This record gives sequence, structure tokens and C-alpha cells, in this order.
Amino acid sequence: MNPNDQMNEIVSLCKRRGFVFQSSEIYGGLKSSYDYGHLGVELKRNIAQEWWKSMVYERDDIYGIDASIIMHPKVWKASGHLDSFTDPLVDCLDCKERFRPDKAPKIPVGTEVEFLDAKKKKQLANVSSLGVVCPNCNSPHLSDVRQFRGMFQTNLGPTDPIHDFIEKNYDKGLSKTDFIKQLNQAADRSAVYLRPETAQAMFVQFLNIQQTTSAKIPFGIAQIGKSFRNEVTIEHFIFRSCEFEQMEMEFFCEPGTQKEWMSYWTEQRLKWHQKFSNHPEHFRLRAHDADELAHYSDQCFDVEYKFPWGWDELEGIASRTDYDLKKHAEASGAKISYFDPNKKNPQSGKNGYRYVPYVIEPAAGLTRVLLSTLVDAYTKDKQVDAKGQEKTRVVLKLHPKLAPIKAAVLPLVKKDGQPEKCQMITEAFKKEGILVRYDDVSSIGKRYAKHDEIGTPYCLTVDNETLSDESITIRDRDTTKQTRLPINEAIELVKNRLQEKVQ
Ligand code: ATP
Repeated sequence: MNPNDQMNEIVSLCKRRGFVFQSSEIYGGLKSSYDYGHLGVELKRNIAQEWWKSMVYERDDIYGIDASIIMHPKVWKASGHLDSFTDPLVDCLDCKERFRPDKAPKIPVGTEVEFLDAKKKKQLANVSSLGVVCPNCNSPHLSDVRQFRGMFQTNLGPTDPIHDFIEKNYDKGLSKTDFIKQLNQAADRSAVYLRPETAQAMFVQFLNIQQTTSAKIPFGIAQIGKSFRNEVTIEHFIFRSCEFEQMEMEFFCEPGTQKEWMSYWTEQRLKWHQKFSNHPEHFRLRAHDADELAHYSDQCFDVEYKFPWGWDELEGIASRTDYDLKKHAEASGAKISYFDPNKKNPQSGKNGYRYVPYVIEPAAGLTRVLLSTLVDAYTKDKQVDAKGQEKTRVVLKLHPKLAPIKAAVLPLVKKDGQPEKCQMITEAFKKEGILVRYDDVSSIGKRYAKHDEIGTPYCLTVDNETLSDESITIRDRDTTKQTRLPINEAIELVKNRLQEKVQ
């Protein structure tokens, strides 16, 4: 299938069925903001829950936290975000598109390219020393690169410092330069930032977590939450948005052991992504080249997924050395270190070793994983309908643990006690906290088609026979095979599928 068609079909399914809507749609929508509908919220929660289970519940060495989105501004100064969390930005001089040159199509310098100018006339020109062209119109006529701060800033307090400053100073005869400088200083005094990553809270709270858990190194801290980045380029539906969710874990280890832990975590994280997938070969690890590494990082891998537009990042796994803990120790004055009484100090050879731990950080985007999960599950197959005609069926082959609705409970007809019987079946699931839905809207064929499209693994159909012999039909989404089973066995079959251990 054409990659654009596939994405368009997925975006359309998301809206039509209630996975993802454009935010504020009735007002024309807000670029790059999305709302998750009744199915999207369940899929997102299920992915987050599986991540949390694998990171926290199924291990003895990782502890969860849930930190504030707005933190002390000194956190962002110390972490380096205030000074260097910027993206490069250029403007196309022909179509005025604003974009990140590092994400634009790369073309060798000097190559002659064809593009449409502002008057839609075909033009030829050579690629400049930037080595990229405009992703919108292919023009090589681009502005110089500027740096653009990626953090959203707001102000804490009841008054607007910018308004106050202007009120007090507009007639004081300040030069333009002084006015701007002092205005910025006034705004900065109460400035706070929406976090651009969840990671920093886990460094800042290292001592509290270590002391309250008595955790011994190696151990980790995990968090799932919202992050915000004022992205220059918005692309591919929810792949890159300004407000998104991350699933991050900081794993603290002894200096010198980071290579071992890096290979452990890259393997674990790749396996986690693959275990719910129909196409494990669509995931790969990509090592960062030396020129891509941050100055404090000694190794970094991306888990990439083969999206319809090509391989792209799902998760970054970085070996961050002791950079973050040291920076926060320096800036705050807190004594952030770890003491191991049973280890020999490698320098002195004496018992007792105090050190600043090294960190391995697997950082995944929850909303990005939701998109890869939809792409991975989106399938078209041929089925023969009740009239013997071959039809193309759209089916979301979501793993049952991720599927928003685990089973649909359907009466064949809306009478003869069938709806009541269905309600008894839904109750059996509700009391176990399993989301199933009663559905009596339209023909049985259309209901099957709808539940295939939203990824419901099973349909349980009640008919006249059910009322006499307590048996129902259970239909498997992937094979469309229907089997007649006693009600209890059908319920158990669905529950067992959800309990299965996934390797
Ligand atoms: P990219 O190169 O795509 O901008 P990044 O390397 O800046 O991503 P990290 O800072 O490593 O990303 O963040 C960890 C993860 O958070 C990413 O792998 C991605 O899944 C997710 N993520 C980052 N930025 C966004 C965004 N704007 N929208 C959605 N998810 C994001």
C-alpha cells in the first residue's frame, strides 16, 4: 500500500471510531494538539500499564514516581536545558515554510533541484551549503539557521510581569536595547517552564528515593507523564506534537559497569516493543554516531520502528555517565552520591566506596508508541461475506492486552430476553475490571466489522439457543472463526487470553 494512503487511512479510522481527535476541532483545531477518545485513552493506558508492569511490578530494583510538571527553574539551568535545549530553525524563502534543517531531506551541496516558486512556476537552483531543501516545496533557497528554544515558558504568580514592567517603564526614556533587556529580566524573575522531559525529576529526587526505599545500586526510578516541547516541525499525526507523554526510567549503576547495563537495557527494551507486535522485524536498534552523541554521553541507541514514511525513533537509550547527578549536586549544594560499605574503593583499596552513580536512561514516547502500535496492527484482508462475495476487511490486530475493548457482547436480536442475557455476561467481566461492551446497534455483520476495525479480539454472540442451552458463539477477530461454547467457558477463554504471559 502507498505509505501516504496507509497513514491517511489510520488517521481517518482514529477519528471515525474514537481513538484520536484533533484538539479544539470545532474552533478549527489547534495545530499539533490531539485528544484521545474513548478507545484511544484505553489503548494509551494499556500501553502505559504494560510498560509500568515490565519496569516496576515485574522487578525488584525499579521504583516509580510521579513528579510535578512545573519544577524549580534552577533545575533547567543546572540540567543545561535553559541554555541549550534549542532546535535549529530555517525559513524557506520561497514558500515561507519554517522547519528544522536536521529533519529535512538531505541533498548533496551543489546538486541542481527543481521546485515551484511563490508564483507556482518551475525553477531550477543549486543546493546551498546547508545540504537540505525545503520539505514543502523542494526549494534550496533558505534563510540562515537560527536557534529556537524548545521549552514553553510561563510565569508563577498572580501578576503578569511583562504587563507590569511596561506599565511602569513605557515613558522612562529607556533605549530599545535596555528596554528589551530589562523586560526580559523582569519576565525571567518569575519564569517557570513546562518540563520538556520527565527525566530531570528522577535525578533531583535521587536522594529521597534512595533513602526512603533503601535501594542498593544498581536500581532505577521510573516515571510516566506529560512533557511539552515547542516543536518547530510538526509531523506525521501524533508522532511529533507539542504536548505528549513519555515513559522514562533512570537506571543508576556503578561507574565502569555502564557498558554492561547498556547492552542489557537495549536488549530488554527492543524485546518489550517486539513482544506485542505482529511484525517484530519492523523494530531495530540504531547506534548513534560519535557526532550525534551529547558531550556527556558515552553511548546511545535508538529503538526505531519502520513507519510508513521510513525508519524513525520510538525510544532513545542513553548512557548519560554521572553528568546529571553531578550538575544538580553542584547547582543545589546537595551531597548527591552513594556509599557502598561492602565495596573496596578502587583508588585507596580500602573498604567502603562513595561515588556518584552512572546512569542508563531508556526514554520512550508513549504517544509515539501508540502510533507505532496502530500502524503495526492495521491490516487488510479478504473475507467472504454472508452472500458469498469477497470483501476487503480492515482489522486492527492489536494484542488482546493492548486492545481497548476485550470483548463485545452482542445479542443477535434485540428481544426475546437476549439483551438481558448479554447484560449478565457483561457483569461477569465488569466485576473483574475487564472492559467489555454491550452492542446492539445495526446488523450482526456490521457489528463484527466495527469490532474488527477497533481491534476487539472477541465477539460473544447471544442467540435463541443461548436461552435454552447456555451456550454462545465466540468469534475470533483474527481468524473470524466462530465456535459454540458454554457461556462460562467462553468467558474463561477471554480472561485466560488476558492472563497469558507474553514473551
Ligand atoms: P526526536 O529526535 O524525534 O526529536 P528526541 O531524540 O529529541 O526525539 P528524546 O528527548 O530522546 O527525543 O525523548 C525520548 C522519546 O520521547 C523519543 O524517543 C520520542 O518517542 C518521545 N518524544 C520526544 N519528542 C516528542 C514529541 N515532540 N512528540 C511525541 N513524542 C516525542
